[in-house]
Amino acid sequence: MSGKDFRTRLVEEGILIPGGVDGLWGRSGVFERIFDGLDRAITDAGAFARPEVMRFPPAMSQAVFEKSGYMKNFPHFAGTIHCFCGGDAAHHQLLGKMQRGEEWREQQQPSDLVLTPAACYAVYPVLARRGPIATGGHLVDVQSFCFRHEPSPEPTRFQFFRMREFVSIGTHDEVMAFRQDWIERGSAFATSLGLPFEVDVANDPFFGRAGKLMADSQRSQNLKFELLVPVNDDAGPTACISFNYHTTYFGDIWEMRTPDGAPAHTACCAFGMERLVLALLKHHGFDIDSWPSAVRNILHL
Ligand code: 5GP
Ligand code: ZN
Repeated sequence: MSGKDFRTRLVEEGILIPGGVDGLWGRSGVFERIFDGLDRAITDAGAFARPEVMRFPPAMSQAVFEKSGYMKNFPHFAGTIHCFCGGDAAHHQLLGKMQRGEEWREQQQPSDLVLTPAACYAVYPVLARRGPIATGGHLVDVQSFCFRHEPSPEPTRFQFFRMREFVSIGTHDEVMAFRQDWIERGSAFATSLGLPFEVDVANDPFFGRAGKLMADSQRSQNLKFELLVPVNDDAGPTACISFNYHTTYFGDIWEMRTPDGAPAHTACCAFGMERLVLALLKHHGFDIDSWPSAVRNILHL
């Protein structure tokens, strides 16, 4: 794609609708048509394994969020929900402040809700409540809007984005076999969509000075791989799918057990839906009807 940069074209064509804050985007019918196709294609790709389907709202309970340990590792990404809980006098005061352009949000009270940072976080407490994981492991297909406070002008960095994941819970061998299988399936999926990509070891952007050690350790243990597609102009490739092995981190936190009583291991394959839509637009152009028919077939377009 030559001439105007990718972001400018997306905005000019109305595919992305600027929300007035970096990383806050509305999306057009064309974008959502591709999104829906992708969603169905991922369902098709995972159907053989008959996963249990779970869908969650974009927020989770404070209790679950706290227990997940997110604030220890990623406090810079988290978003909490605050609401007005006062009476008439406080309301009057608030409107006055707003009208005068003063800070009014200090009157807002914390709610019991926190924005969901990753789709799979909502799954673990649900499974933990059910008792030991079945022999052979368990597989969940989850989707959630996720939030990360990471404002950026790059169109591939949404502050709110949808994450679709297959999550495996079981023994070490079960979840490692799942992850290897999905690195291969994810690669075959990207190939079938006509996307150029590479798969590479990666790390999460852990916070602070201790975060550097966490990131190094995550890398040296090969806990995270990413499928990277060139999407942005003049920038490195973008992580569109990630393949994560969490060891017994969530098994320990939630006391999820395998049938022999040992802490469960978990792994997930996470599809960044908006990023994949943008990758398809980048590589096949903005006119869906002119996309290769094999790609349109896979996406039910
Ligand atoms: P992870 O938990 O590995 O950081 O994220 C899982 C997947 O969500 C990533 O592979 C990526 O495709 C997607 N993702 C992560 N951060 C963002 C973001 O800021 N914007 C968008 N659109 N997708 C993201
Ligand atoms: Zn996950």
